[in-house]
Amino acid sequence: MGRLSKDKRDIYYREAKREGFRARSAFKLLQIDEELNLLEGVRNVVDLCAAPGSWSQVLASRLLAPRAEIEAPSRGGGGAAAAADAASIVAVDMYAIQRRRSCLSMNSRGSRRPFSDFLDPIRGVTESSAYVVFFSSGDGAHCRRSSGAGGHHPCVHGPGSEVLGHLRGDPADLVVCDGAPDATGVGDFDEYVQHQLLLSALLLAEALLRPGGGFVAKIFRGEHAAELMFRAAFASSIFDDVVVCKPRASRNSSQEAFVVCRGFAPLAGPGTAPALYSPGRHAELVDLGPGSARLVVPFVACGARDGPDADTNYAVGPGHRLLGPVAPPLQAPYREALEERRGLKRAAAAAAAGAGPPA
Ligand code: SAM
Repeated sequence: MGRLSKDKRDIYYREAKREGFRARSAFKLLQIDEELNLLEGVRNVVDLCAAPGSWSQVLASRLLAPRAEIEAPSRGGGGAAAAADAASIVAVDMYAIQRRRSCLSMNSRGSRRPFSDFLDPIRGVTESSAYVVFFSSGDGAHCRRSSGAGGHHPCVHGPGSEVLGHLRGDPADLVVCDGAPDATGVGDFDEYVQHQLLLSALLLAEALLRPGGGFVAKIFRGEHAAELMFRAAFASSIFDDVVVCKPRASRNSSQEAFVVCRGFAPLAGPGTAPALYSPGRHAELVDLGPGSARLVVPFVACGARDGPDADTNYAVGPGHRLLGPVAPPLQAPYREALEERRGLKRAAAAAAAGAGPPA
């Protein structure tokens, strides 16, 4: 699909480029915030699975004082206080978000080629070198028994400690995770890995959050969604409130949704059993007869009803200016494939030229 047809087919892709967002996902976070006031009172945020960085851009634009307020204390006298009180945003991903790179890479035929890729830093966002490590269920049980920021949580000794270091030891008010592992195309396997990522992000969030904090994560409502809802139910025993959101910027045709948990209530200490679930402000337990109850997690549609629809094709005007991507991918595998193809074409052309015209 050409870039122009993508502009027509995907209005959020087009708008993201126009507004300078690195990905269309920015609008999903904006719409969730619009509906649930997610960012109100938030200062420290951890953005898990953040590359290329559009959620971090939204967080920075919403939570950080304008540059002038921080850099010019004389203007209005509030600058120093603003700097001290500035929000901390820590971004975590397996791939580079804003690091500058200049190195030699090796292609599959063994020849080395120089390249220097870089993305501009997102002001006010610290990139962590940690990533979301998959924990086994055994780790999970231990994590839960001793949760709370800075406690004896095993996550705290790995990625958690690195992230907390960037937060200067302060726990996070909010942890968000828009993570998706690279798809293999094998549906069940991809869904399983996605669930593991969600669970690992939840464990990491438990290690990072302050009491009362919030957690937002992408889920896929696939065949095993019931299991996922069970996880959400578990989350609700450590959060006051759990809802599942579908932002308008997320295509209806996609199974993607976001679980939003608020009011983190860490377990009291080692050996503490999870509290029996007591429905939060929104979720409810539906009595299904003797000995059986089902947790109903509310489903909330986010984004203005008359806002652009992610599944609709919108025509572009005759004067439409095609914009390039805000953040071209670093070291994208397709670049190597393209170079290989160009190399093969050049070699074929040279061979044809060397053979000379047929006698
Ligand atoms: N929220 C991002 C934005 O707005 O730009 C988009 C995130 S993208 C949909 C999913 C990201 O999850 C990818 O960048 C991928 O590298 C990351 N990811 C997948 N598994 C991960 C892991 N175990 N640890 C860290 N990042 C991971």
